Order: sequence, then structure tokens, then C-alpha cells
Amino acid sequence: MAVYTEPPDNGGCFYIKEGAISKRIAIWGSTGSIGTQTLDIVSLYPKEYSVDVLTCHTRIEQLFDQARQFRPRTVIVTGLGRTDRWEKEFAGIGVKPAWGRDALLEAAAEQNEDIALNALVGRAGLEPTLLAVDAGKDIALANKEVLVMAGSIVSRRVREKGVRLLPVDSEHSAVFQCLAGEDPRSVRRIILTASGGPFLDTPKSEFPAITIDQALNHPNWSMGKKVTIDSATMMNKGFEVIEAKYLFDIEAENIDVAVHPESIIHSMVEFSDGSLKAQMGNPDMHVPILYALTCPGRKTSSWGSIDFSVTGNLTFREPDIDKFECLGLAFKALSMGGTAPAVLNGADEKSVELFLQGAISFDAIPRLVREALENHTIDSSPDISAVLNADMWARNFVAERYSKQKDAR
Ligand code: NAD
Ligand code: MG
Repeated sequence: MAVYTEPPDNGGCFYIKEGAISKRIAIWGSTGSIGTQTLDIVSLYPKEYSVDVLTCHTRIEQLFDQARQFRPRTVIVTGLGRTDRWEKEFAGIGVKPAWGRDALLEAAAEQNEDIALNALVGRAGLEPTLLAVDAGKDIALANKEVLVMAGSIVSRRVREKGVRLLPVDSEHSAVFQCLAGEDPRSVRRIILTASGGPFLDTPKSEFPAITIDQALNHPNWSMGKKVTIDSATMMNKGFEVIEAKYLFDIEAENIDVAVHPESIIHSMVEFSDGSLKAQMGNPDMHVPILYALTCPGRKTSSWGSIDFSVTGNLTFREPDIDKFECLGLAFKALSMGGTAPAVLNGADEKSVELFLQGAISFDAIPRLVREALENHTIDSSPDISAVLNADMWARNFVAERYSKQKDAR
């Protein structure tokens, strides 16, 4: 936490090296929503930040345009094979391309950058994160699934290596900022805010008929498809509860969720004396990304200024766990412990993929995740290979359930 200058002895998983300013950045997933917003920031402060590595999965044209503008040392394309044409194109602008997932893992393990901004999606980011931590790099983490799958392994490794794990997620950036200058022992609870997504006021009886376009239409945030669907089911908030537990070393019973449809308060921390701190701003991911790169300092920017005549009233309500079952499933997975959160994540990723293919209905997502959790045999203190096996088991479980149900129809 921001208050630490030494690695904390109570398990809190990150701390500030006073005055540290990051210079050389790897941006994993630079063609996505978080990746492109990170490059917006780099372009604003060209003297402070230089880009060492950019990566994409398949959007190679976009990666090429980014490479031409930011001139990284290398670009990595994880989801396409090498071609002579693209080798030549990149060589023409003096950038070295590399191909395949192994190239990402190799780059993660090198010691070329000060910080890796992980804007990958889903399980793809777990192994690179561990390799980068081992190489002594700070991590700015957008890819929350890393902590959902393997929070205790990752946070332990971060402490051992003495690197910083900095939140990019807006809620966790808010908590991080509220904690600055505070004694972590005085924290009573964390309140994560949730927009409630597009179906906050939709009756549960209408969930089976929800279309892909409706689910992708988030009221406040423009994000990648996976996190947008997770926001619509509120699995995203469940993931964020798990993320908060490991980032801030706080027990689940001290993490509350408040639905706040205006998305102006990004989260809050309540202290032992009854004081409550909130961090506020317009819903704009540039602000938390920038803070992850500059903390404990700040830079001047034009983002985030609130006009209260536009925002109107700020409102709060209890989350409806009966309607948004995924949120309750995340708390359940956390209390089950061991490999259960990895199963939660793997089953969710596979279910969201099937939903986005039009193969299953919206209400099938929580059902498949619940069934995966019910059928999983937990490994209570897994190593990383047990986590990856649990993830694979959950994906296969969902795929099999889906094909059985399809055959039965
Ligand atoms: P996105 O889908 O827009 O971008 C994902 C990036 O990862 C792309 O560059 C893509 O090429 C790459 N990628 C996809 N699959 C990959 C794979 N298998 N291997 C390697 N690279 C792969 O996603 P996003 O919205 O930018 O979200 C990224 C992460 O940040 C997610 O974990 C999300 O939950 C989190 N997050 C996003 C937002 C937001 O506003 N977008 C806010 C908070 C947290
Ligand atoms: Mg968030």
C-alpha cells in the first residue's frame, strides 16, 4: 500500500519506492481498450516514458501503426504466425517483431523495462506476470484475472521480489489513493462501487432473452468485450472483490459492494474512527492508468474533472445477489479457497466466450459457473501448475456441459 516504504510484514502485497518514476514501459495488450489509453498517456509525456515492448494477439495492422508512432524495441504478436510481409514491414520502421506466446513469455522474463503494464485479458496474463515479477519489474495490473486465478501465489512472489504491484482497475486505484498516508491497521472496510451494468433494472425473468448487443452496451464505460460481459453479469465486481483481497491484504468480510449507477465515486475506504474516504472522478480509465504510472506523485492532465451540474444526484443501493448470481459465486469461490477462484475464472471465461459466439443464453453464464464450482475438487494450497490445471478443468467442464445440453435439445 501507499503507506509503506518497506515491504509490509502483514502480507500487504505492494509498497512504494519513494520517488520512483517509471521510464521504460512494456505494454502487453497494447491494441485493447486499456492498452490504447496507456499509449494516449505515453504520447502526452514523451520525455518521461518510452515504450520498449508492445503486444497484440491478432490486430497486427493496429500494432504496426502503434509501432510506427512509438518506436518500441520490439513488438510481439501472440495469435498469428510469422509472415515475410510483416517481417519486412516492421524491419522497414526499425522495429523487431516476434511471434507466438513464447515470445511474450521470453520478453516478460527479460530485464529491459522498469514496468510492465498488463492489459491482457483473462488467463493469458498470469504466466507473463509471474515471469516479469521474477525479473524484478514493477507491474501495473489491469488484467485482474491474474489475481483471481492465483492471488496468493502472485502476491507472495511480489513480496519476495520487492517489486510493486500497482492497480489500474478504477476501483482499486481509488482504494489505493484513499489508503495513501494511512495506517493499514486502521482500515475497517473497503467499499467497492459498481455501476450495476446495463441490466441493473431489468427483471431477472428477462435475462434469458438478453442479446449480445444489449449485453455489450455498458452505460458508463467503453471496454473490451470480455470485461463488458463480466460487468453485465456483475462477475466483474466479484473478480474485483478477489482482486482487492490480494492487493490490499484484506479479508472478504471487510469488503462490501455498493451499487452506484453514476460511476462517479470509484470506491471508498472506511477507517476505524468512522471516517470514510472516497475517490471520485468522471468514468475515464486514463486517470487510474496515469496514477499507476506516476504514484506516489501525480502529473497534470485534463482528464477527470467533474461537473456536478451534469452528474446530478449520486445514488447507492445494495447489490441484488439473487439477480446477479455471479457476484455471490465469487464470494463463495473466495471462501472455498485454493483452486476454486481459478475455476470461477476459467468457467466464466469459457461461458462468456460461448455467449459471445451466440451459443448460450445470458442466464446460462452463472449457471455454468455455479455447476463448475459445485463439481470441482479443490486443491487447497495449489502451486501454479495446479492453478493452470484447475483453469483448464473448468473450461473443459463448461465446454462438455454445453455440448451435452446442446445434444439433449
Ligand atoms: P481488450 O479486449 O480491449 O484488449 C485485450 C488486449 O489483449 C488486446 O490487445 C488483445 O490483442 C490482447 N489479447 C487478447 N487475448 C490475448 C491472448 N490470448 N494472448 C495475448 N494477448 C491477448 O480488453 P481491455 O478492456 O483492455 O481489458 C484488459 C484487462 O483490463 C482485462 O482484464 C479487463 O478486465 C481489465 N480492465 C479493463 C478496463 C477497461 O476499461 N477496458 C477497466 C478495468 C480493468
Ligand atoms: Mg473496475
